[in-house]
Amino acid sequence: MKNCIFCKIISGDLPSSKVFEDETCVAFKDIHPQAPFHVLIVPREHFDSLDKAEEKHKETLGHLLLTAAEIARREGFSQKGYRVVINTNADGGQTVFHLHVHLLAGRIFVFPPG
Ligand code: AMP
Ligand code: ZN
Repeated sequence: MKNCIFCKIISGDLPSSKVFEDETCVAFKDIHPQAPFHVLIVPREHFDSLDKAEEKHKETLGHLLLTAAEIARREGFSQKGYRVVINTNADGGQTVFHLHVHLLAGRIFVFPPG
């Protein structure tokens, strides 16, 4: 997708600090971390938001969540816990319209979030 910063990161046209990648997704450090550990898990296939997800994205969506759990495990956060977030559209606080999963860890999170 033209003019999508996450597509540009995936293609290597923009730099990122990658922590994981496979055939379905790429995970990299958030440029403005909201926790000591904050990565974004981004599908290689562009779709704008969870609101735009279709039946065909089912496997990808599951893969993103399992990848979040795997990264959290690998980084040593499983036991203490972590927060997984998908901001969706304007009221949900989404600013980049290429669906992504936030994985935040390394501090205590309150609920409900702001
Ligand atoms: P959201 O507000 O849920 O759409 O999240 C977008 C996230 O992308 C924000 O947390 C930004 O800090 C992050 N972000 C924006 N540009 C970059 C970039 N070039 N590299 C890494 N993270 C980015
Ligand atoms: Zn994109």
